[in-house]
Amino acid sequence: MDVAEKLDILADAAKYDVACTSSGVSRGPRRGSLGSASQAGICHSFAADGRCITLLKVLLTNVCAYDCAYCVNRASNEEVARAAFRPRELADLTIGFYRRNYIEGLFLSSGVIRDADFTTELMIETLEILRDEHRFRGYIHAKAVPGASPELLDRLGHLADRLSVNLELPSADSLRLLAPDKSRASILSPMRQIMASMAEDADTRALMRKRTTYLTPTAPKRKTRAFAPAGQSTQMIVGATPESDHHILNLAAALYQSLGLRRVFFSAYLPVNDDARLPSTDAVQLDREHRLYQADWLLRFYGFKVDEVIDADAPFLDPLVDPKANWALNHLELFPVEVNTAPYETLLRVPGIGVRGAKLILRARRHATLREDALRKLGIAYKRARFFVTCDGRYAGSGVAFTREALRAQLVSPIDGGRHGRRADRATPGQLSLFDAVDTPEKAAVRGEGPKAALAGAPAAGARLSRARERRPVPTRAASGTSGAGAGAMARRARAVPADATPEMIFA
Ligand code: SF4
Repeated sequence: MDVAEKLDILADAAKYDVACTSSGVSRGPRRGSLGSASQAGICHSFAADGRCITLLKVLLTNVCAYDCAYCVNRASNEEVARAAFRPRELADLTIGFYRRNYIEGLFLSSGVIRDADFTTELMIETLEILRDEHRFRGYIHAKAVPGASPELLDRLGHLADRLSVNLELPSADSLRLLAPDKSRASILSPMRQIMASMAEDADTRALMRKRTTYLTPTAPKRKTRAFAPAGQSTQMIVGATPESDHHILNLAAALYQSLGLRRVFFSAYLPVNDDARLPSTDAVQLDREHRLYQADWLLRFYGFKVDEVIDADAPFLDPLVDPKANWALNHLELFPVEVNTAPYETLLRVPGIGVRGAKLILRARRHATLREDALRKLGIAYKRARFFVTCDGRYAGSGVAFTREALRAQLVSPIDGGRHGRRADRATPGQLSLFDAVDTPEKAAVRGEGPKAALAGAPAAGARLSRARERRPVPTRAASGTSGAGAGAMARRARAVPADATPEMIFA
């Protein structure tokens, strides 16, 4: 089998791994070395469902000794074509693609060939050829194989920029059922080791930067590479087992908190095998995956706690309303807020105002009083935000009753399997492979086809209606209909998971 055939099989086999994203590490070019890594990311292809895909996302091999029920590469699947790269083949291929400007980095995963240690040794050999022989300084994300020796994991971490250990499923029971070759310990131990090694590495580097002696420090001839400078991430499958969103988000929060993960990826279960242990439905829960990502964003960037986003009594996220809008609808007594005076943390909780938007508002209001047109210019999603804010005392949401039901009807945003938002018309259906030719509306417009080309010949848009500027009544908190039921009620609700829960406690 030649390298192109192997690449065809192994790049396709890697498409189920969603734990890849922007590089998260910035490193400039260096004389005598090849490549650089950009903080902005290496792999900005987005599939229709919003997944970010690396260009060279490949398995070292899809031969696997394990038999995970949900995986197309499992040992008992006799229908799948198997292939394996030799380390040098894969390293040379990566460099060849890099030189042709096809890729900016490598996302390397693998099936378990023979055992975890043997597989990790092959991965290490590949990365050593890349780093030491080709002097490749580009971004590398490597998957750690659960059960590999700590020494090998340590070596892998010094070669890769990011490491990830897949959690696979949200509980140890599910793991026992569907991935019997893996265990809670074999997954959480390497995660803990990676966290400890990163901390140790950071301490050592800080100490070396400090002058602790009057003697001139002698710089080591060659610097040791930092241990996983872009941190670690993980991935879990959603929908193959009965765990609720409440459980999954608590687990994700515990992973961020106690293992310092940079990112937890959720992957909607894709039925690829017939197995009595798997759900019988063919429905891929992309909408659920999307809502989980939205909630995860709230935890990481908006200062929300899990029990604010989701309640143990209603343990699944609302499929029709995004989690932030849902929180706002449950706390109408806190709205509307005045954009010219509200603190940053409050602005972050307004549907339609994101992190960037809140920062821009803070900056802009130092110089002028903000009104509707200013908010629109700042890129605020005013259509949503207008129900929750006042601008210089004016409320733009009148005409819609300030009640949970009426506002919910305005904020409903069905996901439609990922085909929503500004990128929807540009996204290609399914997951891209290296061998797909991608067509976009822009390309179609260049050829003289598609809606953009049609629009090009259309008459200019007519004059816009001037917006009414009359002072509108501002709903009072008493009119909200929730009458203080929000924050207090939320606080009174029993917490199913303690705030300081560790991943071991949840992943039980
Ligand atoms: S270890 Fe499990 S999930 Fe990974 S390739 Fe093998 S069968 Fe698939």
